[in-house]
Amino acid sequence: MKEKDEVIFQKDADGYLPVFNRYKIVLDHGEGIYLYDNNGKKYSDFLGGIAVNVLGHNYPPLVRTIAEQAGKIIHVSNLYYTQAQADAAERLVHLSGLDKVFFCNSGAEANEGAIKLARKWAHTIAADKSEIITALHSFHGRTLATLTATGQLKYQEGFGPLPAGFSYVPYSDYDALEALVNEKTAAVMIETIQGEGGVYVPSEDYMKKVRALCDKYNALLILDEIQSGMGRTGKFMAYELYGIKPDIVTLAKGLAGGVPIGAFVTAEKVAQALHPGDHGSTFGGNPLACAAANVVMDAIAKQGILGHVEKVGAYFKKKLEDLREKYPNLIKDVRGEGLLLGMEIAVEGRDIVNQCLEKGVIINCTAGNVLRFVPPLIIKASEIDDMLSILEPILAERAKSL
Ligand SMILES: *Cc1c(COP(=O)(O)O)cnc(C)c1O
Repeated sequence: MKEKDEVIFQKDADGYLPVFNRYKIVLDHGEGIYLYDNNGKKYSDFLGGIAVNVLGHNYPPLVRTIAEQAGKIIHVSNLYYTQAQADAAERLVHLSGLDKVFFCNSGAEANEGAIKLARKWAHTIAADKSEIITALHSFHGRTLATLTATGQLKYQEGFGPLPAGFSYVPYSDYDALEALVNEKTAAVMIETIQGEGGVYVPSEDYMKKVRALCDKYNALLILDEIQSGMGRTGKFMAYELYGIKPDIVTLAKGLAGGVPIGAFVTAEKVAQALHPGDHGSTFGGNPLACAAANVVMDAIAKQGILGHVEKVGAYFKKKLEDLREKYPNLIKDVRGEGLLLGMEIAVEGRDIVNQCLEKGVIINCTAGNVLRFVPPLIIKASEIDDMLSILEPILAERAKSL
């Protein structure tokens, strides 16, 4: 029995920690890029669970595989082997171009594991090689180490003492990074494209120089592709856009199309620093999550999704740029690659997001004033047009009042 929205809001207020600034809708089911709330209202989903639902909602092969796997085994301990986990590792190693993978349950856990691995590896070189350099405005997660890696004070305040050994540089500023990296640097950890921080895309020159700088000081390059990976940019990993390879890459969000999972993947030379007992997880890489990840990886590798994202992403970006030309006082910038797109506006975005929601469009605003679009990768040009026909009048109205 479905309860009335107000009853659900009240239960949440009574029982759930108030850490989320939620929008007042109760979602019930979905189909493709569409979601339906408890009252049957339809929404087009341009957030995709924050870059998670890469194959959309209720994607038949994913639903079928999850049901079949659940009917066999949902979980076994990592003390044993499963076909699904072995297959997922094989696929991810192949798609990433790296050598060894570890599965966990979330993005924060993937980054936490990457930091641990980097420190363990660095300590095989020198006892004082442990510094992790990250970027301002980054987002790496909510555990103590990953919120320390996150270069934004608002996530850290009140949670001290924070783990030691982290320092920060402005993103995309090579000189600042060069000034900080030295023999004590264990790793430079950045998002290949900054997502939460406002959709910032670095230049190829910057990324290549960061790679070379890490090599020079024997520091690891950790790329957080939790948001930018899994085909989001039209490449399986966004680092392919730059012709570089990290020493460790982290994934989560889209990896299993909505089933909780995370992973870090690394090069052989780094992997050798870990031995039995050094790291682990009860749930990590369980057969349910891995079976789902295998469906997603196969869909991306074999069903032309990358080419589709490249085409439809370019189309989408062009349309957003056209809007910027029409409303230059409101729209300051359009950024992004593939289906990770941001539109920076001159005002706070939350009202616009609410107006869209009212009209059946789910978008999101990050960093206060960047409208962010990270829809399912299967989205069609016509669905983008439909969304823009709702967004444009809202933007036009707002632009008039400036
Ligand atoms: C979402 C995100 C994370 C954290 O993932 P969780 O699953 O919420 O822990 C880390 N890094 C990036 C770049 C993200 O977008």
